[in-house]
Amino acid sequence: MTYKKASVLLIYTGGTIGMKEDPADQTLKPFDFGSLMEEVPELRKFALKIDSFTFDPLIDSSDIEPTMWEKLALLIQDNYSRYDGFVVLHGTDTMAYSASALSFMLDNLDKPVIFTGSQLPIGRPRTDGKENLISSVEIAGALESDGRATVPEVCIFFNDLLLRGNRCTKVDAEGFEAFRSPNYPPLAEAGIDIRYNRDVIQEASRGVFGISTRLDTAVSILKVHPGITERVVEDILLGDGTRAVILETFGCGNAPSRDWFLDIVRESASRGKILFNVTQCPRGRVNMDLYATGRALKNAGVLSGGDITTESALGKLFFLMGKSNDNEYVKAYLEKDLRGEISK
Ligand code: ASP
Repeated sequence: MTYKKASVLLIYTGGTIGMKEDPADQTLKPFDFGSLMEEVPELRKFALKIDSFTFDPLIDSSDIEPTMWEKLALLIQDNYSRYDGFVVLHGTDTMAYSASALSFMLDNLDKPVIFTGSQLPIGRPRTDGKENLISSVEIAGALESDGRATVPEVCIFFNDLLLRGNRCTKVDAEGFEAFRSPNYPPLAEAGIDIRYNRDVIQEASRGVFGISTRLDTAVSILKVHPGITERVVEDILLGDGTRAVILETFGCGNAPSRDWFLDIVRESASRGKILFNVTQCPRGRVNMDLYATGRALKNAGVLSGGDITTESALGKLFFLMGKSNDNEYVKAYLEKDLRGEISK
């Protein structure tokens, strides 16, 4: 009997993992992927076929735009039948946004798409990049005995943890434990072996894989805070440029109960805008029935984000708004769990 070697496509977008210091001004700038492979000869030891694709130009992920997500989705689609899994090397700054967006843009996914990066460039002593890259490749190529992918999801692998991509937030600007998914358990942990937490990994879709690349980015985020002014709330909630506003609220979905604030929220909702309530707390969920301040938002027409992250709420809105110009269509799907991004 002959066994087919699993195959992985390594997609390099930029980020610290592949940067080195420019002696001219001592800032970190991306270097080419050939050098990256030289730095990690361990990859050659896997019984995997590994190919690579490098974006040009390589970018610091602070420059990521939805056009890059579209390019990524198209690249994955073009190569979908040729590979068992995909690893996306990406800067950490916006990795949670990209992983969230891709989780919505890839329809009927039945293969792993693993985002990873590092806090220290791969060429530096004590880099976290090597371990992150090596484990991500192993996970992307992991197959069950029946040939199905072990993790048919968009994920982030970082510092020994495999996390659902649309549940993640960057929680540390410097430390190696850069990502957490406070409202969802890790899908796997890398120790001596990679231990998969199969109970919480999504089942592969049985539908036909496809991509949705039409995104509508007319979304604002309003983080409420003590001292927020009427002018600011008005500009964001009633501004012409936005179809939807993510309200980042206190605790379990509460906001100021002052009349002017609720009047603007009501006015915004009555103009048909999509208002989505996401808590500022990393852990826990929005429950607008608990306090009068939350109930007032619900009565004004604000929808609950449950335990969704802001990064995921943004990707979900871009995706749903790209599907239809009808805000009522978007509202009908917003509170539903589409890709494991929201707990029931
Ligand atoms: N600024 C870098 C980026 O996000 C940071 C990193 O890669 O960790 O591209």
